[in-house]
Amino acid sequence: HRKDLGRDGYSFFDSSMNANAQEYLQLIHDLRFAVERGELVLHYQPKFDDPAQPVVGAEALVRWNHPSRGLVLPDDFIPVAEKTGLITAIDNWVLNEACRQLKIWRDTELGADWTVAVNVSAVQFRHPQLIETVRQALDRHQLPARSLILEITETTTMRDVEESLAILQQLAKMGVKISIDDFGTGYSSLMYLRRLPANELKIDRGFVRELKQDTEDAAIVSAIVALGKALSLNVVAEGVETMSQQKLLAELGCNSLQGYLLGRPMAADDFMCAADDRLQTN
Ligand code: C2E
Ligand code: MG
Ligand code: MG
Ligand code: MG
Repeated sequence: HRKDLGRDGYSFFDSSMNANAQEYLQLIHDLRFAVERGELVLHYQPKFDDPAQPVVGAEALVRWNHPSRGLVLPDDFIPVAEKTGLITAIDNWVLNEACRQLKIWRDTELGADWTVAVNVSAVQFRHPQLIETVRQALDRHQLPARSLILEITETTTMRDVEESLAILQQLAKMGVKISIDDFGTGYSSLMYLRRLPANELKIDRGFVRELKQDTEDAAIVSAIVALGKALSLNVVAEGVETMSQQKLLAELGCNSLQGYLLGRPMAADDFMCAADDRLQTN
């Protein structure tokens, strides 16, 4: 009966779509239960204001510990979660888990001033409960609002600018810090940036990857640094993998860094050990 299912010259069952479509459906099915089964884990990547100084905080990055596939990275399930609405449960779990972990760290001497950065998806950013969810997470874990950074991509904030500004203003009023992630990939106007109640611009990894002296990338980085200075925003470079990238970024005026060179995303316990080791050897 295969032929009967075929339309416009292709059969659903014969096409290579078959395996992909089935796998996709299976993924959605599995993801639906991932949160309640406790299969999500957070890894933490260190953030530095200055690579010569101790860690100032961590970015929480979600991973899915799938029973048969192993550790699945966010790019392979966050887009699916956004399309199916499962993202709300995931983002809420991430927010609470990151706050729970931060509270543990801040109760230690080493981590007393640490911050945690949480990525907010486009869907979650516009969720009517966002403000309340954030407030509750902070209250539940007895954290000051300034210890939480919400990372929102430039592209997300650029959609419906007026609505975005209203949401960001409410978050800023609460005292939560705002970081504009993947900066440089969207099309923010200077006028818009001036009104944006943000604290940080995160230069997209794409500009750091092949960063060399006197290239377009270098010009863009220094333009973003100048923009940050003019608007009193901290500028962070992400994806720093080599010493030469770090050196050039410093020359361009960017000392806030994140990347494999300084620390990979790691489990919470490893993060604490790495931060401690770093302090001992410095
Ligand atoms: P992002 O927020 O821009 O996070 C940075 C990504 O770059 C992370 O990938 C990180 O592991 C990777 N990275 C960091 N340093 C380096 C480096 O030196 N070299 C290279 N090649 N890569 C580096 P990851 O963890 O796979 O996350 C990818 C994206 O998924 C994130 O991009 C973020 O947009 C999203 N994401 C991660 N966790 C969450 C989450 O809890 N909720 C939501 N909604 N999105 C998340
Ligand atoms: Mg991020
Ligand atoms: Mg980024
Ligand atoms: Mg990204």
